[in-house]
Amino acid sequence: MSRLALRLAAGVLPRVCNPSGQPRLSILIYHRVVPERDPMRPGEPTQAEFDWQMRLLAEQFTPLSLEEAARRLVDGSLPRRAVCVTFDDGYADNEQLALPVLARYGIPATVFVSTGYLNGGRMFNDTVIEALRNWREPVAALAELGLRDYPLATTADRREAAGDILTRIKHRDPAERQAIVDAIANGARGLPDDLMMSDDQVRALAAAGVSVGAHTVSHPILAAVAPETAQREIRDSKAQLESLLQREIAVFAYPNGLPERDYGAEHRAMVQEAGFGVAVSTHWGVATPDSDILQLPRFTPWDRVPLRFGVRLLLNQRRVDPLTARA
Ligand SMILES: [Zn+2]
Repeated sequence: MSRLALRLAAGVLPRVCNPSGQPRLSILIYHRVVPERDPMRPGEPTQAEFDWQMRLLAEQFTPLSLEEAARRLVDGSLPRRAVCVTFDDGYADNEQLALPVLARYGIPATVFVSTGYLNGGRMFNDTVIEALRNWREPVAALAELGLRDYPLATTADRREAAGDILTRIKHRDPAERQAIVDAIANGARGLPDDLMMSDDQVRALAAAGVSVGAHTVSHPILAAVAPETAQREIRDSKAQLESLLQREIAVFAYPNGLPERDYGAEHRAMVQEAGFGVAVSTHWGVATPDSDILQLPRFTPWDRVPLRFGVRLLLNQRRVDPLTARA
């Protein structure tokens, strides 16, 4: 029933949302795919959910690699209901859990890797989440760090504490933030060192046909660091991946990714100078031939039901790239 309804919606909605028939490209953004629902990260799809999402894309949309889609967006040959699948950061589950599903449905994908966390590293947000999951004491007494004292009686308490801490520290100066995160890590019984991919996993993705893109080395918010640092982060991530894979790395994703807040025109210029041909932001929307190929918007429906997921993705066709609307 829901498949039939979705097929009908896929026939009708694009005409309603996009009466001009102008080519439009939806680029989905994922981070992780988890084995089962993780109450500390309820927004991450399970492998079973990711499976129906990819089946839905294969049946109702036209999945393309980001490189091919960008080329066809420019030359006017984009097929109907074109979509790309992308992942940010370089989580090990991309290779372990997402890759088998992508392969099952023949869906091209791009994984943007922050190279500094490969081989046992951990991003600061994951350190906070995993520390609160594994906290030693019944209360996380963090007021002395300028945070709060968080009672941790339930899983919901732990999740909310991690969320509150991340909101408070996300935009702090990187060194100051790292000092707080290191102090928080000390309160945990133990922390995982296998969240991100190893070099071998990156090679395995590439060997399986997944496109690998750069996402800086240490994932700084580019607008918050000195220009020399931003430039080095952009260039070094490209060079490190090229050395690892012995191929050109031509696609880039801005960390955090909101235009004007997280990166600016100067960073776009650095990405261009470094030799990237395509770059993606986290601005919600659908790309059109008028979009800036170095700041393509992305969007992922959050629904847990296929029909809603599919309809929301179709409705995304209304959301013409806000950057082009402004230009
Ligand atoms: Zn990221």
